[in-house]
Amino acid sequence: MNEVWLNGQFVPADAARVSVFDRGFLLGDGVYEIVPVYSRNPFRLDEHLARLQHSLDGIRLANPHGLDVWRRALLELAARQDFADQSLLIQVTRGVPLPGQPLRDHAFPRGGAPTVLAFAQPLVPPTDAQKATGVCAITAPDPRWQRCDLKVISLMANVLMRQQAVAVECAETVFLRDGLLTEGAASNIFVVREGSLCTPAPSTHMLTGITYDVVLELAARHGIPARVSEVTEAELRSADEVWMTSSTKEIMPVVMLDDVPVGSGEPGPVARQMDALYQQFKQDVMRG
Ligand code: PMP
Repeated sequence: MNEVWLNGQFVPADAARVSVFDRGFLLGDGVYEIVPVYSRNPFRLDEHLARLQHSLDGIRLANPHGLDVWRRALLELAARQDFADQSLLIQVTRGVPLPGQPLRDHAFPRGGAPTVLAFAQPLVPPTDAQKATGVCAITAPDPRWQRCDLKVISLMANVLMRQQAVAVECAETVFLRDGLLTEGAASNIFVVREGSLCTPAPSTHMLTGITYDVVLELAARHGIPARVSEVTEAELRSADEVWMTSSTKEIMPVVMLDDVPVGSGEPGPVARQMDALYQQFKQDVMRG
C-alpha cells in the first residue's frame, strides 16, 4: 500500500483521514499543486513550491512549512511509492475551526491549523503516438473569477468546462475573455503564427504554468521567436499551430478547434521541435 503525507506523517493511503469539518471539504477553501516526478525526481520542485507560496499568499494562509521541510517530505514521499514516475499532488486547506467556533462560516476561523496533504499517483506522460495525432479542443467564454493566477481547490468552473470538452470527445476547453485567449480549463495555450510563438502574458486571468515558463525559456535559449502578449480570438482561430501545455500533458498539439482544423489539421513542426527540446531538457535536469 502506498503512503500519503498527511499533517506531517506518512500514513497508508487507506488509513488517511480528514475531518468532515475541514474547510477544504465544506468551502473549497484551499490551494494545491501538481508536481511531475520522473524516476522519483520531482521536476522543477522549487518553482512549484514558489507557486504554492503565491497561492497561499493569495488566500492569506500562512505556509505551514519552510522550503526544506517541503523538499525533504516530498522527496521521501516520492521515494516511498512503488512506481517511479509520479504525479504528486500537494494540497493545503484552511483546516478545521478550533472548538467554540462555528463549524461552517465563510469568514476565516481564528487559530487552528491547516490540513496538509500530499500523495502520488502513477504519471503516464503522453505517448509519441498521442503527440503525433494531437487532440481536439473547443472554445468557451471564460466563466471563472478574477484570480485565476491562484491554484485554488475550488475548481467548479474548470470541472464543468473540462467536462463540456469531454462530452464532445475533446481534450480541452480553451477560454476566451473579452475577445482574448486566457488559457485552457487545465492547461496553458500557445499559438504559432508564421514560425513565432504567441501566448498571453501572465496575469490574474490565468495560471502561470510551470510548463509555460519552461517552454518560454527553451524558446529563448534556442532562438524560437516568442511574443508574450495578448492573443486575440481571431489570432487563435487563424493560427498555424495551437498547443496546450501542462506538467502532465507536456506539449500537446491541438489539431481541431471547434470542429475546424488548426493549420494543416496535423501537429505542426514547431510543436515537434519544442517537444524534442522539452524531452531533452527533462532528461538533462534529471541527470543533474
Ligand atoms: N492553467 C490551469 C488552469 C491549470 O490547471 C494548469 C495545470 N496545472 C495549467 C494552466 C498548467 O500549469 P502547469 O504547467 O504548471 O501544469
